[in-house]
Amino acid sequence: MVAFTPPIFSTSRHDIAGQSVVELAKSFGTPLYVYDLLTIQQRIADLHAFDAIRYAQKACSNLAILDRMRRQGVVVDAVSAGEIRRALAAGYSGGGKEIIYTADIFDAESLDLVLEHDLAVNCGSPDMISQLGQRRPGADVTLRINPGFGHGHSQKTNTGGEQSKHGIWFSQIDECLRRADQDGVTVTGLHMHIGSGTDLEHLSQVCEAMERAALEVGRTIKTISAGGGLPVPYSEAESYVDLDKYYSLWDQTRCRLSDAFGHRVELEIEPGRFLSAESGFLIAEVRSVKKMGDNLFFLLNAGFNDLARPVMYGAHHPISVCPADGSDAAQREKVQAVVGGPLCESGDIFTQREGGYVDKRELPMCRVGDYVILENAGAYGFVMASNYNSKTRAAEVMIEDGQPKLIRQRETFEDLVRGEMIPD
Ligand SMILES: *Cc1c(COP(=O)(O)O)cnc(C)c1O
Repeated sequence: MVAFTPPIFSTSRHDIAGQSVVELAKSFGTPLYVYDLLTIQQRIADLHAFDAIRYAQKACSNLAILDRMRRQGVVVDAVSAGEIRRALAAGYSGGGKEIIYTADIFDAESLDLVLEHDLAVNCGSPDMISQLGQRRPGADVTLRINPGFGHGHSQKTNTGGEQSKHGIWFSQIDECLRRADQDGVTVTGLHMHIGSGTDLEHLSQVCEAMERAALEVGRTIKTISAGGGLPVPYSEAESYVDLDKYYSLWDQTRCRLSDAFGHRVELEIEPGRFLSAESGFLIAEVRSVKKMGDNLFFLLNAGFNDLARPVMYGAHHPISVCPADGSDAAQREKVQAVVGGPLCESGDIFTQREGGYVDKRELPMCRVGDYVILENAGAYGFVMASNYNSKTRAAEVMIEDGQPKLIRQRETFEDLVRGEMIPD
């Protein structure tokens, strides 16, 4: 079913999905997030074998992106009241399973919204079962199970095991079923999302854990969800997971469960990063090129207020250069450069490893005014942007049918201070 070709990242770039980087920067300003819709559509197509593709919108939740996902038949996750409202605003409806509220807790607002819009719920704690059951007797729920082990590309993204706060501990299923019975709640599905960076060996353990858990719950199970965590390569050293094998492991699990229960069990997948990461680019402008001792710095007008992953996780993003005069960056001399932002914080460096160690990157030499593009920035990019240093958040543009379309205005100073008051 799938694109399993390792990526080639070039450090020189002229266009994004056929649109000139210089023109995009001139029309919309910088820093600018640009999403290529076609890439999202391809990633959706890669997953067609699953019964449902449920987008974890936290990866990139702009309304236009959600709307286009919906038009492609993708359903959606909501992890907060805000995400429920976003899904509704993008045209998803309640009453079925188009939106699933999946979280470890209900706050008052999210529980009210779940009830008001009759949304499906995936419970990440036993308390949620009773809290929902008391307000909606006879409810169906799915349970997020923590199988007792996890996997993630960093401690902060590992979502299984004892250290993780996520899900219902695998040995408490029986207790949860009794709780569910008390409130007339039926457990109709199970879910496991154990972290980003899935490898196949590990996956077979997850599938076994899912099978054991589902057999323990029994015949009320109608769906299982493989969760998210499908990797995308951020460097040439990384690659995609073999999706055929990934699917086949889950499909075998599903088939065994279908046989055991005597009815078809549906298989869902719940990707965030996989659908949106590669579609996104952050275009920034080089504002200073300076030497500090042996280090050459390219300082951009975008910082960790725009893209936090390098600072938060030491995440590696491919970086490319587009000269302001439209010439070919590949013709420029190659240099070893540190790429950083404008924030008053020495950690504001895009080329760093986990632990904050500053790295150099081989890039075409830059001049002030050139553009630097942080690539694979479509997941956990804009959504983690902040107003730190009173920076306004970037604009977002989506490229669709060869047209760049503005999908979020650049913030203004008025947006920044909205709600602030100076008392007499
Ligand atoms: C974040 C999250 C996902 C998506 O994770 P990715 O690594 O982006 O695929 C899926 N399901 C749940 C419950 C999540 O919290």
